[in-house]
Amino acid sequence: MATLCSICQDYLTERPQALRAEEDVIMCALTCGHLFHRVCVSQWFNRALRWSWWANLIFYFIRDGICPCCKKNVSLNNALRVYPTGDEEGDRMVRQDRDLKKVTEENLRLHAQQEELRQQLQRARSTLEEEVVAHDILKMEYGQAASRCETMQNELQDGKDMKLAIENSYKSALEKSEGEKTDALQRLTEMETQHDDTLGQVQQLKKMVEKLQLQDARRRQENQYLQASLFSKDAGMEKLPGKQGASKPTAGRLLMNGRGLSEIDAEPELVAF
Ligand SMILES: [Zn+2]
Ligand SMILES: [Zn+2]
Repeated sequence: MATLCSICQDYLTERPQALRAEEDVIMCALTCGHLFHRVCVSQWFNRALRWSWWANLIFYFIRDGICPCCKKNVSLNNALRVYPTGDEEGDRMVRQDRDLKKVTEENLRLHAQQEELRQQLQRARSTLEEEVVAHDILKMEYGQAASRCETMQNELQDGKDMKLAIENSYKSALEKSEGEKTDALQRLTEMETQHDDTLGQVQQLKKMVEKLQLQDARRRQENQYLQASLFSKDAGMEKLPGKQGASKPTAGRLLMNGRGLSEIDAEPELVAF
C-alpha cells in the first residue's frame, strides 16, 4: 500500500518513528476520509490541544480536532481502523522506493561530503603551494646563509693565520728586544765601570794638578826670592854682622832679615788660579 501518512510523510504500511517497538502498525481513517497512522494522528491532536490542561481534559472525552489535510472538524472516536489487503508487489515497490530514497539521501550526503572534501583538497593544494613557495624561499635563504657562513669561516681562518703570524713576529721581536736589552745592560755596566775608572783618574789628575800648582807656587816664590836677592847683591848690599868667613846668606836669609829661617822653609801660601 503505497499511500503516505500526511503527518509523518512515511508510507502507511511502514512503521512510523513515533511508534514504540512493541506496538503494531495501525492505520485509521478519519470521518473526512483521510488515512493516517493512528499514533501520528493521536500525537497530532495532542499537539494541537496541549496548550492547557482543561483542553486536554476536553480532548480526553471528546477527542475532537481538525484534519491536517482538509481542516475539517473530526473526532478520533469516530475514526475507523483500516486493514489494507495484501499487495506484495506494492510492498516490494514501497521497499524499493524506500531503499531508493535512502540511497538518494546517502548519495546526496556523499556528494556533499565529496564537495567538502574537494574544497578541503583545494585548500590543502593552496596551502601546499604556499608551503612550496616558502620552502623555496627558505632553501634560497639557506643557500645564502651557507655561503655567508663559508665566507666567514674563510675570514676566520685568515684571521687565525694573521694572529699566528703576528704572535710569531711579536715573539721574535720580543726575543730580539730582550737580547738588545741584555746587551744594553752589559754596555751600561761597562760604561759605569769606565765612568768609575775615569772618576778615579780625574781624582788622580786633580791631585797631580794640585801638587803641580803647589810646586809652581813654590817655584814662583823661590823666583821672587832669587830676584830679590839678586837685586840686593847688585845694589851693594851691606855685610851682615857676624864672624868673618861666614857662608853667604841664602836668598831667604837675605830677604827675611831678622825673621828666622823657619818661616822661610815653611809651606808657602797657594796661589789661586
Ligand atoms: Zn504517520
Ligand atoms: Zn481530512
